[in-house]
Amino acid sequence: MLPFSGLRAVRSVIGEIATAGPIALAALIFVTGLAAQQAPATSLEVLPLRPNFYMIAGAGGNVAFQIGEDGVVVVDTGSASNADAVIAAIKKVTAKPIRYVINTSADPDHVGGNAIVAKAGQTLFTGNGGVGLAANFLGGGASILSADQVLARMSGPSGKPSPYPIEAWPTETFSQPRKYMYLNGEGIEIFRQPAAHTDGDVMVFFRRSDVVVAGDVFDTRRFPVIDVAKGGSIQGEIAALQKLVDTAIPSVPIVSREEGTLIVPGHGRICDQLDVVEYRDMVTIIRDRVRDLMKQGLSLEQVIAASPARGYMRRYGSDTGPWTTNDFVEAIYRSMHEKAQ
Ligand SMILES: [Zn+2]
Repeated sequence: MLPFSGLRAVRSVIGEIATAGPIALAALIFVTGLAAQQAPATSLEVLPLRPNFYMIAGAGGNVAFQIGEDGVVVVDTGSASNADAVIAAIKKVTAKPIRYVINTSADPDHVGGNAIVAKAGQTLFTGNGGVGLAANFLGGGASILSADQVLARMSGPSGKPSPYPIEAWPTETFSQPRKYMYLNGEGIEIFRQPAAHTDGDVMVFFRRSDVVVAGDVFDTRRFPVIDVAKGGSIQGEIAALQKLVDTAIPSVPIVSREEGTLIVPGHGRICDQLDVVEYRDMVTIIRDRVRDLMKQGLSLEQVIAASPARGYMRRYGSDTGPWTTNDFVEAIYRSMHEKAQ
């Protein structure tokens, strides 16, 4: 089924691309057997994961897309400034219209390209002269699907200016734990993960392609961002990682084949189930340490001083930037402190 020798090969190539540029990209094309004209002309990296499934890296959050008879289903649209490049990358692979955009959260690096990407597409629902929100709002552009909270956040409270134009807003939202569609010959399951990275997270499972697009509950570059102010929590974060582990299947019993479910994180490299198990264990161990310190009556400052993320800081931590190790520890503390109230 896989057009290449295995996940490890893709991984090593992804790692090389980051440092080696065009030579590694040539290697990617060799490994995947793709024609050279499908290589991106921009700085975006387009990685074929399956014959009908691709990942785009470098546009903000990771973007994934599935192609088939019905058109293109895109998960996340990257940052606004990269939207044209994302469309160009998709159009290099397929001439089919973009039918659906699914957002994994309301973060600007995941929904920023919504308006432009949706407008470049065409809703499935124009046959009767245009019905439904999609046609009304987008003039027939692709539908945008998300959890309820994403629309609430993107449209803003009533009476205040919206942070995003109406063309960027979800046209379909849902609140149930599982939403599904059947497009391009496969079942697509969308799992809502309440109170994880934020209050509006979903993970998207393409069942035949056997790919899960995880969103920012899983970030291989750093500790997971738990945005407590936007409804995130450590409990929901660990539950989301557990759902990923439960959904994915590793390459057993024939480990040497290096097959199995592929997981596209919100940021970082392609992973398999074992990678998520390790990440879940790391987050759980740090949560347990913070919980033990809190049981001893330590304050937030004392918990941070006790360095509960020790052993993982070199791999995932940071002292500077938008999400430091201390930010992560504080988010765990505040999640559990609020729960205890
Ligand atoms: Zn992100």
